[in-house]
Amino acid sequence: MRILVTGGAGFIGSHLIDRLIKQGHEVLCLDNFYTGTKRNIQHWLGNPKFELIRHDVTDPIRLEVDQVYHLACPASPVHYQSNPIKTVKTNVVGTLNMLGLAKRVKARFLLASTSEVYGDPDVHPQPEEYRGNVNCIGIRSCYDEGKRIAETLAFDYHREHNLAIRVARIFNTYGPHMLENDGRVVSNFISQSLRGNSLTVYGDGSQTRSFCYVSDLVEGLIRLMNGDYIGPVNLGNPGEYTILELAQTIQTMINPAAKLIYKPLPEDDPKQRKPDLTKAQTYLNWNPTIPLAEGLQLTIADFRQRIEAESR
Ligand code: NAD
Ligand code: UDP
Ligand code: UDP
Repeated sequence: MRILVTGGAGFIGSHLIDRLIKQGHEVLCLDNFYTGTKRNIQHWLGNPKFELIRHDVTDPIRLEVDQVYHLACPASPVHYQSNPIKTVKTNVVGTLNMLGLAKRVKARFLLASTSEVYGDPDVHPQPEEYRGNVNCIGIRSCYDEGKRIAETLAFDYHREHNLAIRVARIFNTYGPHMLENDGRVVSNFISQSLRGNSLTVYGDGSQTRSFCYVSDLVEGLIRLMNGDYIGPVNLGNPGEYTILELAQTIQTMINPAAKLIYKPLPEDDPKQRKPDLTKAQTYLNWNPTIPLAEGLQLTIADFRQRIEAESR
């Protein structure tokens, strides 16, 4: 098949592309390099199965493909909040354009949505039926509400134009290729420990997250795209940790002498998050397989290599 991956030079997109090309597909990687980097996909440059398109999804584009994985959107709060109006445009206009493209060529369309559609959840763990607790005027809403309208658009294209859609609600995912200055918790704690800096815990660190290793997530996305269930379906790891536990785990793994420092909790920071995986298990026969300690080792090795390469 010929497959379009928007946001393909980013963290998850680049791992997805590796898998799709190894499966024998032809891949078009579309990215504006806002938070993605050519380094993530440079090993495919020159390969006849790979094509790189520098383009912003908020502008229309005509391409002929069989499937679209729509991932283009900054995922880290630091990045999506640095230009919130652009984040809304990417989620709304960008998703509309990619849906228009999929409709025109009758391609199957997968939306990378997020656990953020549940906001600061008062139901725990979160099943797909839960409608969420989102502040529509807060600093996270450009992303949360942007993804919610992206889901709405996908379902309206399905109902109005019979478009084949798939909607994945991705929970916190980590792994190699995350940007060091990305601002997300796993990348921050790893690079801070490796560089001998203090680990910055926001609030008292009692808020929880559930961390999924990227290869598990990619497997879930591919199963969703190629199965019959349209979703929305939660994809994540149900292992739930407080941020303080995560800090201590990474501290122990890299540098037990590293200090923890406490910083103010950002506005609207969700207190808890954990996926209910019943639907992914039932419809995709999917479960994550990589435990946190193993995934962190692989991620730390990648960060260590990049930081060492800098000083050479
Ligand atoms: P990322 O920031 O590494 O990747 C996003 C990619 O999209 C980057 O390469 C960026 O340059 C590109 N992009 C951004 N705006 C664009 C635009 N207007 N036009 C073209 N390209 C654009 O993030 P990621 O972690 O790989 O996330 C990928 C997708 O998965 C995002 O849609 C994100 O919302 C979703 N998601 C990720 C997580 C996670 O924990 N990583 C959780 C939930 C949802
Ligand atoms: N679009 C695109 N590529 C295509 C087809 C459509 O970028 O191959 C854009 C198009 O410019 C429009 C959006 O997708 O802004 C929605 O297209 P659709 O055909 O659904 O709606 P319409 O153009 O009728 O408003
Ligand atoms: N966080 C933290 N220190 C950091 C970065 C993040 O304590 O250096 C916290 C953040 O406040 C949140 C959690 O870790 O409670 C996850 O943050 P991240 O930005 O990775 O993702 P999200 O909030 O979107 O789940």
